Amino acid sequence: MNRVTLNNGVEMPEVGYGVFRVEEGTNLENAIVKAIEMGYRSIDTAAIYGNEKSVGKGIKQAIAAGVVTREELFITSKVWNNNLTFEETIAAYEDSLEKLDLAYLDLYLIHWPGKDRYMESWKALESLYKQGRIKAIGVSNFQAHHLETLLEEAEVKPVINQIEFHPKLVQSEVRGFCAKHEIQVEAWSPLMNAELLTHPVIVDMANKYQKSTAQVILRWDVQHGIITIPKSMTESRMKENLNLYDFELTEEEMTQLDSLNENRRSGPHPDEFDFVI
Ligand code: NDP
Repeated sequence: MNRVTLNNGVEMPEVGYGVFRVEEGTNLENAIVKAIEMGYRSIDTAAIYGNEKSVGKGIKQAIAAGVVTREELFITSKVWNNNLTFEETIAAYEDSLEKLDLAYLDLYLIHWPGKDRYMESWKALESLYKQGRIKAIGVSNFQAHHLETLLEEAEVKPVINQIEFHPKLVQSEVRGFCAKHEIQVEAWSPLMNAELLTHPVIVDMANKYQKSTAQVILRWDVQHGIITIPKSMTESRMKENLNLYDFELTEEEMTQLDSLNENRRSGPHPDEFDFVI
């Protein structure tokens, strides 16, 4: 598994396993064990997904079976929109650790910027980071203007901005900002939640390389230097999504995929999304 070095020196796997919209339960526990057995080392969850306990149980089983050590894994969770004061963020981190049954997280993210509360939450992440309780801290769904505001006051730079990214939403502005400030971009819903898998341009490329359309899209991510976290609960697809390293898209194909952009989101726009659940 290729790893990307983040701006604080921590290494993060280029491809991870996302678990949004997967319910707590033995199916998820087993999927986590399978994912680790087949080579996934990075797992992306969040408090709002309501499945941290099962993710933690799966991790525990894989470690107990000797498949992997905790240090070899890279576990991400996120603080939700209703916990963005300093104290709430610290409590949310403790809660995630308890549910995952882990001593530390590799990466903790502010899930959405909201309107004006993210700075206080960031101070809490900085405090946990400085105490050595998290290996790396970052943000998700931040636009360039949110990052600009954050960087004015931040003592620790975010290592990651996890954003919606796929061929229909190439996010040039925020990617440009992140590149300038050494903030690694990570793609959520890289397959646009499966919507892009039948796109004729992508189908043609998949046929050419004898790969699946999912593999073409995920290969486009890694060739762009973007960390990607596809979700699948199907064993064959989970394997497929890791198997991206025996072909390479040409520059022309990269541009062709870039040009499918329509600035179309499957999720909410970060400037309009401020609700609390
Ligand atoms: P994805 O773009 O990863 O698509 C997931 C869908 O694609 C599922 O229906 C899955 O089906 C299907 N799929 C996956 N791989 C293949 C394949 N090789 N062939 C065919 N179908 C496939 O969507 P997500 O929205 O889940 O995004 C991925 C992760 O990003 C999330 O799980 C979460 O961790 C993160 N995320 C973060 C957000 C944020 O705000 N920070 C927001 C949304 C997501 P099946 O499971 O049936 O195999």
